[in-house]
Amino acid sequence: MKLPFFRIVLLLVLCVPVLAQQKPTLDYYLPADVRYDQNIPTPASWLGYEVGEWHTSHDQLIGYMRALDAASDRITLQEYGRSHENRPLVCLTITDPSNFARLNDIKSARQQMFNPQGTGKPNLKDIPAVYYMGYSIHGNEASGDHASMLVAYHLAAGQSQELTQLLKNTVILLDPCFNPDGLQRFANWINTNKSKTLSADQAGNEYNEPWPRGRTNHYGFDLNRDWLVARQPESVGRVALFQEWRPNVLTDHHEMGSNSTFFFQPGVPSRVNPITPARNQELTAKIATYHAKLLSEKKILFYTGENFDDFYYGKGSTYPDAQGCIGILFEQASSRGTAQETDNGLLTFPFTIRNQVYASLSSLQAVGDMRVELNEYLYSFYQSALEDASKAEVKGYLFTNEDAASAAFLDILGMHKITLPAEKHSVQTIRCSYHVSSPNTG
Ligand SMILES: [Zn+2]
Repeated sequence: MKLPFFRIVLLLVLCVPVLAQQKPTLDYYLPADVRYDQNIPTPASWLGYEVGEWHTSHDQLIGYMRALDAASDRITLQEYGRSHENRPLVCLTITDPSNFARLNDIKSARQQMFNPQGTGKPNLKDIPAVYYMGYSIHGNEASGDHASMLVAYHLAAGQSQELTQLLKNTVILLDPCFNPDGLQRFANWINTNKSKTLSADQAGNEYNEPWPRGRTNHYGFDLNRDWLVARQPESVGRVALFQEWRPNVLTDHHEMGSNSTFFFQPGVPSRVNPITPARNQELTAKIATYHAKLLSEKKILFYTGENFDDFYYGKGSTYPDAQGCIGILFEQASSRGTAQETDNGLLTFPFTIRNQVYASLSSLQAVGDMRVELNEYLYSFYQSALEDASKAEVKGYLFTNEDAASAAFLDILGMHKITLPAEKHSVQTIRCSYHVSSPNTG
């Protein structure tokens, strides 16, 4: 049969998934029952488009965070390092304005919690919680760092009794982008290959990044394997920041395969590091009830406990578990672009961003509600570590400090604030050449 030309064209058009982009709004992302301070710039007022319409470059992301810092007395932005490509790594300290004057006092009070040989038990009810919110260590998992703009805006501009109370009792360290160079590479690819008329076809250029893709940093290192050995500048700065505060909770926002849904820890029980105390997993599970509740209310599909490990301490969601902190992994199915066809239907970038916002809000609520319980755990973690050490058969390790490998090893111990017997002064000298000065959050 001979098909007329216009029918062939029509068939071709019907075979290619084409969609018009629905523009998201701020209401789409944020709670409807919170009033927002008009003096704080929204992401759209600064970017010139709503979050999720484009892939925001790192300089735009940081520009908006600096604008929030300038406009809000709840925020102080600090630069804690530079990536290989000389992009700033920044952290927003977010808390009630009255807490900024006493940040050093808060730090000192918290020091007592992780110094089991100190003088008596501190009053844990009076000590603010510290919550480290970390986004998109894999640069092509962009829903996280895009959500960070909305979460930062919510924390800067939100006017509610619940939020006021949370900020009084909590110091939030919001790290909007763990991997600046990866984010920049990915955003550039997507925006360059996106069409005016969107295509959701998985075979489209937009959804097929070439090597080296945006996951890794400039030199191809997976920064989510580097928290323990800390060989990359991004990790060196971040570990110093973590050690400066030793937070109660750290959240780590990622993306996974496009055909999945949304995952939060606890991970699969058989793959939890045996050194991690059982109480850590219990508290992770308790915090998970907050995610489950909010996502259920919003009718978002999710799962937990079925996969993803909590074993290797070089990962951002596991490193905290070795230090009395609760590390939590989030994994959102990736649109890996603007809108992609998946087994579960069309997956849009704004939808993925919104889920990361939800997980951030549920975590904030959990930290606020569980503050004293989390302080109790942090305190007992260091107490029980001493008890466990006193029962252990191995009392120490002896090694020389005369070769480069030992010096590098001591450098790593020093980064994690693992102290050595006082007579090792010569070791300290070797370590100085590596050591990074602590950032100033005061
Ligand atoms: Zn990831």
